[in-house]
Amino acid sequence: MSGPDAADGSGHDPADLADPIDADRDSNPGSDSGNETDRPESPGPQPEKPPIDEKPYEIVFEGGRCFGAGKCAAVAENWEMDLETGLASPKSYFVAENDLAENIEAATICPAKKGRGVIHVVDRETGEEIAPNPAGDGTLSLG
Ligand code: SF4
Repeated sequence: MSGPDAADGSGHDPADLADPIDADRDSNPGSDSGNETDRPESPGPQPEKPPIDEKPYEIVFEGGRCFGAGKCAAVAENWEMDLETGLASPKSYFVAENDLAENIEAATICPAKKGRGVIHVVDRETGEEIAPNPAGDGTLSLG
């Protein structure tokens, strides 16, 4: 039996799935985490972003809406599953040209948000979303 506050056994907080604000909170549009092994929500001062010419693409991740399907980690070395939480995280939020294709594949294959995906690959120069880009116009498809 489950009351309103009881866990539903899915391991997910239903509020996370329903609240677009949560998604925004968990994304990293101004993230300054350039540490390859850093966690997305690490407190404290963060290192500088890498130069755009070295890493022209940024990952925006709606981590609160990941449900652990694991497809991203299956297709991209930049994505790994946290054994404790069962959820994904990127090893790096900044991506070089030669790592772009696998991150695009991860963004495209992610089934969260009814197939819209929670991994976003953004061109740092233009600010446009390269993938999954469901609207086809480069707008960031958060929420
Ligand atoms: S494919 Fe999407 S939902 Fe699945 S683990 Fe990766 S980010 Fe999470």
